[in-house]
Amino acid sequence: MKYVDEFRDPELIRKISEEIHRLVDPNYHYRFMEVCGGHTFSIFRFGLQNLLPENIELVHGPGCPVCILPMGRMDDGLSIAQQPNVIFTAFGDVMRVPGKHGTPLELKARGADIRMVYSPLDALKIALDHPDRQVVLFAIGFETTAPSTALTLMRARELDVSNFSVFSNHVLIIPAIQAILDSPDMRIDGFIGPGHVSSVIGAHPYEFIAKKYRKPIVISGFEPLDLLQSILMLVKQMREGRFEVENQYSRVVPSEGNISALDVMKEVFEIRPLFEWRGLGTIPQSALKLRPEFAKWDAEVRFQIEGARVNDPQMAQCGEVLKGVLKPHQCKLFGKECTPEHPVGALMVSSEGACAAYYHYVHLQDTVGK
Ligand code: SF4
Repeated sequence: MKYVDEFRDPELIRKISEEIHRLVDPNYHYRFMEVCGGHTFSIFRFGLQNLLPENIELVHGPGCPVCILPMGRMDDGLSIAQQPNVIFTAFGDVMRVPGKHGTPLELKARGADIRMVYSPLDALKIALDHPDRQVVLFAIGFETTAPSTALTLMRARELDVSNFSVFSNHVLIIPAIQAILDSPDMRIDGFIGPGHVSSVIGAHPYEFIAKKYRKPIVISGFEPLDLLQSILMLVKQMREGRFEVENQYSRVVPSEGNISALDVMKEVFEIRPLFEWRGLGTIPQSALKLRPEFAKWDAEVRFQIEGARVNDPQMAQCGEVLKGVLKPHQCKLFGKECTPEHPVGALMVSSEGACAAYYHYVHLQDTVGK
């Protein structure tokens, strides 16, 4: 298949792997963090860590949007879902994320009208089809998905739909990376930059990483060759003492980003002063809320939201895994109390969650191989 097969060419993969082995400093332990759930998934799926020298460690950062959402925020959403006359809509990943009193799927089984949608426009259509019900979209994601929520809200305004609202949980990647860089217990040598988010925001917003923090970053695609080439580019930068933003994924990511998508985001959203992230704590200016002009479609205005603060279950170490301090299998609950069938934390739910990816592609294979 074009644009896939050539990026999985075994001979090229072997050559790049050899080149990485040749160029690394054997006396240094490299720690490269990917901050995109899609990269985490590819790294485990294709077993890329096995193609790297032992002294290159891939650290899985907070790139999966459902994983970084604190439990209290899920509970806030689910409290809306339980209000009378509400149809609560969410993407598939969200349906199995546990709140304090269960997942959206479990609440649905108990009678709440919760429906899975594939796009924000699906939720708007449900609102148009049910004018006597309040339809709420649990919107989630980084800059990748925020434009489609924004466009849907603009459409709702155009049609003057009065029974539709959005509970925005959209977050921003740059403040999260900054929080990681400022965290005293984290040593990261370089970043594999997120491919999807960067197709919207472009390459320029990462320049502070190179200039202020003197760390290299390479925006990467998702196929094995993309990721290995990006790691090679990081190793080369370090070897040559360079700290730059490089774009390995230039076939998709324009340096200036997607101007139309950025414009619709600006029209609909403003930046929240503070937002809580699982594992990283409260990060200033790291999430999006609806502008006052869109208050009519803002679920946080329409419904009373408690602003619940709920700790993760005892023994769950999602925060440490999200920060890259622990590997998934080092969590005390991994593979025992917490499995994809019975997830305790969100990292075991989403295919982009480090724990689910590790479980499917490393743990199960190891278990079967024994
Ligand atoms: S194994 Fe479960 S509880 Fe532990 S970090 Fe992963 S998702 Fe969280």
